[in-house]
Amino acid sequence: MLSSKCAICGITTKDAVAAPAVSGLGLKTNICRTCFDRFQAEAAKREAEEYINAEIVTTGGKGECVRGTRLWHAAKNREPGEVRRLAELGADLNARGSFGAATATPLMAAIGDAFSGKCGSAVPVCTTLLSLGADVNARATWHGGDLPPYAETALYWAIFEVQVQPETDVVRLLLKNGADLMLKYKWYERKEELLCLPEIARRQIDNLQFRCRAWERYGYYQARLEAFKLLLEH
Ligand SMILES: [Zn+2]
Repeated sequence: MLSSKCAICGITTKDAVAAPAVSGLGLKTNICRTCFDRFQAEAAKREAEEYINAEIVTTGGKGECVRGTRLWHAAKNREPGEVRRLAELGADLNARGSFGAATATPLMAAIGDAFSGKCGSAVPVCTTLLSLGADVNARATWHGGDLPPYAETALYWAIFEVQVQPETDVVRLLLKNGADLMLKYKWYERKEELLCLPEIARRQIDNLQFRCRAWERYGYYQARLEAFKLLLEH
């Protein structure tokens, strides 16, 4: 039988635990079962926090440094099961990661396809992120600076920051989940003014329709046109 007095709370117990199992306590210390359980729970919590907050660094397709939490990388790699597992451990659904100079939320990282080896639809992982409570209207940041009020959102990325072609089902999903169409952006053709996405769509749609006729087989323009129509009909 171990020492019957708990070194932490002082109660007398017949069920004392040798403290070497608990980090930070002396070798000959004994503590009660309740204190031991609490210590273990706290240690497990600290370990989980370290695990979910750790920054994972990889190299992107253009040699750029890609950094983010495990959840961010799982989102970027379009792995809904892994996103859910990490979220259940307490991972932040909106913690931004970065590639090159830009930072993006997990939702944006899932949508953007400018990452090497990315394939398949972004819908399943975006559905998971949104159902778990990811902020659909969070903005990106650039060059590690302050958050400009006109920086991109997930919806902006879904339409403009994709290299293969916009996924209209992702646009639908974001709209269904409360993507704010009134948010304004610095539109590159008119840098002096801020425009919301339906305004950008209205200005672009004639030109886009022309491009669709000229390059019928180029799905990119067709998909963007579909996305514009979704914005304007919403
Ligand atoms: Zn105790």
